[in-house]
Order: sequence, then C-alpha cells, then structure tokens
Amino acid sequence: MKPHVARKRFGQNFLVSPGIVAKIVEAIRPQANDVVVEIGPGLGALTLPLLARAGRLEAIEIDRDLIARLRERFAADRLDIHEGDALQFAFSGLGPDLRVVGNLPYNISTPLLFHLAACAERVRDMHFMLQREVVERMVAAPGGAEYGRLSVMLQYRFEMERLFLVPPGAFNPAPKVESAVVRMIPRPRAALAATDEALLEEIVKSAFAQRRKMLRNTLRERLSEEDWAALGIAPTRRAEELAVGDYVRIANRLAEAGIT
Ligand code: SAM
Repeated sequence: MKPHVARKRFGQNFLVSPGIVAKIVEAIRPQANDVVVEIGPGLGALTLPLLARAGRLEAIEIDRDLIARLRERFAADRLDIHEGDALQFAFSGLGPDLRVVGNLPYNISTPLLFHLAACAERVRDMHFMLQREVVERMVAAPGGAEYGRLSVMLQYRFEMERLFLVPPGAFNPAPKVESAVVRMIPRPRAALAATDEALLEEIVKSAFAQRRKMLRNTLRERLSEEDWAALGIAPTRRAEELAVGDYVRIANRLAEAGIT
C-alpha cells in the first residue's frame, strides 16, 4: 500500500512518538467495557493501544482513504468506524457514559468543542490533544487576554485540566505550533446553575464580541443600571474581568425577569 499523504484540509498531523502515545493512553486509562469514542483515528496511532485496553472502539473519521486503511487493519466487530464529519455527528446516539478521545484536527477544534459541550450529559470524560494556545484559552482564569467565550462556556460545563505539553516533533508532518493534552469532565447537571443556558450563551457572546468595551455598552440592550447595581457588578468592567459565576448570575436575573 502506498504511504498516505497527509491532507492539510483535514488537519492531518499524525502522532509518531511512541512515548507521547503511551502518555496519552496512560492518562485516559481505558478499561474493558468502556465505551471509547475516538475522533479522527487517522493512521491508528492511538487506535491500536486504545483497542488493546478497551477491547472495542467507536471511531469517527472523515477521510475515506484512511477509513479504507483502518478497515483493512482492524476487524469491524472491534473498531466500528462512523464515516463522516465529527461536527455533524450525533454523539448522544452512542449511548451514555461515553469516553471521548482524539488528537483533534486543529482547524475545527473550537466548533467541535462547542458541538461536544452540547451532548456533555452523555459523556463521562474527554481527553483531547489540541493546539497549546487553544488549551490555554479553555482553562484561562478571568483577567487576561486568553480568557474568552470558549473559557466561560467550557468552564461552565466542564472541569478541565491541562495535562502535558507535546512538542511539534511528536507529529508527522510536524505542526508549526506546540500542542497540549487536556482532560474535560462534565459537571453534574445539578451543579449547573444557569436556568436558561441558551440565554447564558447569548450574553457571553455579546459581552465578548467587543471585549475591550465596558459591559454597560455591550449589554446595554439587556441590562439597566438598576440591574448592574442589584447584581453588584460595576458596569464599567469589561467582559474578560467577569468570572463564570458572574455570567450565570446575569443570565439568571434576566431569565427571572422574563428577558431573553
Ligand atoms: N489520531 C491520529 C493520530 O493521532 O495520529 C490522527 C490525528 S489528525 C491530527 C486528525 C484526524 O482527524 C485525521 O485522521 C483527519 O482525517 C480526521 N478529521 C479531520 N476532520 C475531521 C472531521 N470533521 N470529522 C472527523 N474526522 C476528521
């Protein structure tokens, strides 16, 4: 079989470091009977050791050439390949208690994280390799330039931990940037305090759309001076200065008042 030529449009950077593969699998600790779902198995660098531990694997892959290779290499009753776009994939259909993993295509990582957040209730945990800069935005604390919509919405839904960094040389072709592995564990439903999550999302989006402006201006259409006073938040503050809990309180006040 001819060697596979990595496709840029599918964000293909294949893991070639056995040490990093082992470290990722060790972090995941797959057990027999776990429902492990791999996004973008590619040439199978993670697939093989995951299968060895879990016994079975679900995988979502978009590249037909890679799917043909994977089907030759792995029996269908062990590796169930769903051909298609992970951004459109209905993860919930695979059952509850999913363990989602992947060395993600970096070009779609942000929309993919939002797509996965929407089905977090069916997930036990997720382990992803991403661009280091994206992981830093995910886990960022308020106050800095890295803290944004991605940080607020993902921290609302998940506990997240940056596990370790991965240098470009661990991949072929080597990306231009450093990578990092992140662990995401969904918070239990009861711990999610927003009464209207769609409204929370809207507010966070509006606030960060012009992150340098005062909240008084960016959220002018929704919140009055009286609302800011009741919330105990100075309306002169900027989006990046508010904690996740502040956004939840804003959304809940508006939900209570029937403002959507
Ligand atoms: N897991 C392999 C590894 O670690 O070597 C490959 C990782 S590579 C960074 C990303 C993989 O995701 C590729 O196999 C690529 O074809 C696949 N991919 C890209 N876009 C995708 C999409 N929208 N849906 C599903 N898979 C996708």
